[in-house]
Formats: sequence, C-alpha cells, structure tokens
Amino acid sequence: ATPTAVMVATGEGATQGVLIKGGHALESAHKVHQMIFDKTGTLTIGKPVVVSSKLFKHMVLQKFYETIAAAEASSEHPLARAIIDNAKSMRGESSDLSWLPEVNNFKSLPGQGVYAEVGGQEVLVGNMQLMTASNIDVPEEAIDYLQDMEKQARTGILVAINKEIYGALAISDPVKPEAKAVVAILKSMGVLSMMVTGDNWGTANSIAREVGIEKVYAETRPQGKADIVKELQSTGKTVAMVGDGINDSPALVAADVGMAIGAGTDIAIEAADIVLMRNNLEDVVTAIHLSRKTFRRIR
Ligand code: ADP
Ligand code: MG
Repeated sequence: ATPTAVMVATGEGATQGVLIKGGHALESAHKVHQMIFDKTGTLTIGKPVVVSSKLFKHMVLQKFYETIAAAEASSEHPLARAIIDNAKSMRGESSDLSWLPEVNNFKSLPGQGVYAEVGGQEVLVGNMQLMTASNIDVPEEAIDYLQDMEKQARTGILVAINKEIYGALAISDPVKPEAKAVVAILKSMGVLSMMVTGDNWGTANSIAREVGIEKVYAETRPQGKADIVKELQSTGKTVAMVGDGINDSPALVAADVGMAIGAGTDIAIEAADIVLMRNNLEDVVTAIHLSRKTFRRIR
C-alpha cells in the first residue's frame, strides 16, 4: 500500500471513531487469524447489577446488603459498584453513603474478592477460591446456588461473616446486543473468536455460548491473559486482543494488534494499537475491513 492509501484508510477510520495508530497497526490488522475478546466490559455491557440473593443463615436482608456494601466500599471493581448500588437502591437513596457501617482493615484480593472488618465482624465477599483460600466451609446449598446462577450466565458471589457462609448473591452483566453478530461476521471473514476472563468457568462458558464463541479461557489473572496471547502467537498465528483496559493492558501490549474499546482507561489507550472510541464491537470488523481494503487491493 502507498503512504497515501494508508492515510486515506486512517482518515476514514477516524471519522468512524476507529483510531489507528499508524501504518504498522493498520497493516497488522489484515493478517489477524485469531481475535481474543475480554469478557467484562468488552463482550458484556460492563455495568453489572445484583439480580438475586440467598441467605443461608438468619439475617435481615437489608443488614446483609449493607454489610457487604460496606466491605466493598473501597474496591474499584465493577462488581463492587453493583453491590453498593444495590444497597443504596434498597434504602431508596441516591448518593449519600453515610449510613454505611464502620469499616476497618479493608483488603482487596485481586481476582478473588475483598476482606474487611465491618462493625467489628470479619467479612469476606468473593468467589469460591477466596473461601477455599480462607479455609471457609461452603455448604452444599450455597454451591448449588452458585452453579444455578452460573448456568444463567450470572456471576455468583459468596459472603462469609466471621468465617461462616451467610449468603450469596448473583450479579448479571448482559452481553452487548451486537456481540453475537460480530462473532459470526468475523468467522465469515476467517477470523476465529475466543474469550478470556478472570470470572469462573461456569459463567464464562454461559456467556461464550450466548455469543457463539467456542474457545474460552476462564479464571485467568491479568498477566495470565498476556501469557495466553503469547502462547497462541508461538503457534505462528497473528493474534488480536480486544479489551477495555481493566485487567487486560498487558494482553493488549502482547497482542499483534491490541484494540482498546469504549475509549476505556488511559492505560488501555496507551497500550493499544487501535482505539475504538464508540463502545460498539462492530468497530472491530470496521478496523479489519479498513486494513484488508488497504493492504489487499494494491499489490
Ligand atoms: P474479569 O476478568 O471478569 O474482569 P477479575 O479478574 O477482575 O475478572 O475477577 C475475577 C473474579 O474474582 C470475579 O468474577 C469475582 O468472582 C471475584 N472478584 C474480584 N473482585 C471482586 C470484588 N471486589 N468483590 C467480589 N468479588 C470479586
Ligand atoms: Mg475485565
């Protein structure tokens, strides 16, 4: 392709909110064999909400919600946002958090959940690994509840108070309306879609099924996502990664083509080769099209 053709394609992308960082990024995109999508905030809308809960010991529901909201108050995770909003809406209040019980010794446990002392009680909110790592016995009915929620593509979260499982809740983060069609279009273009997530296998598989993705990597750590990219590259494939930058910047850097979606975080924009300004997965297809058009036409 001539420098002019590259400029035209880059300009055309820009008018559609597809910001291609130079000729090399544009060229790499037409060779892509495999497209790895991050789950949370990329394939899903990224605004999770609490949709169900279950108590296994006696406790007033409102108190249960407020206790876990307090434990999550210092967490930056999207799941924490959902849990705090849920407690707020139960009280019918919009912004003020002054009713939250006192919190001490907050600890964030990445990929697992949070620990905090709430009103003098030890509270753990997180996944099965967190409870196992903390030597907490998870009753059969709690395991059943989690499995049931995961089948419905929801993320199940356990709550332990003073080392006993008190309850669980389910959080839903729906898939973006265009996700399934985009996976199908990519397939027709010869690009295989995959999904990577820190979330559990059950939920991950349910989401993947909804969008038509067969290859899934679940329960991965942020560095693990980059390792997956490198592993695929070592088989000779050209690999693209699409993510919002929360937990996936190393993978965006490792990929042959890193695409940041939703004008996400500054780190994502920095790490990516292509920035998709609109939070719409169709722009992944637009980016590949622009590249193919530029590098396959004139040769
Ligand atoms: P993702 O790749 O989907 O963004 P993360 O690696 O951030 O996932 O988290 C993996 C899992 O760890 C979550 O699905 C959840 O079960 C648990 N987790 C992480 N942070 C929190 C939190 N603040 N509260 C409760 N659970 C959490
Ligand atoms: Mg994420």
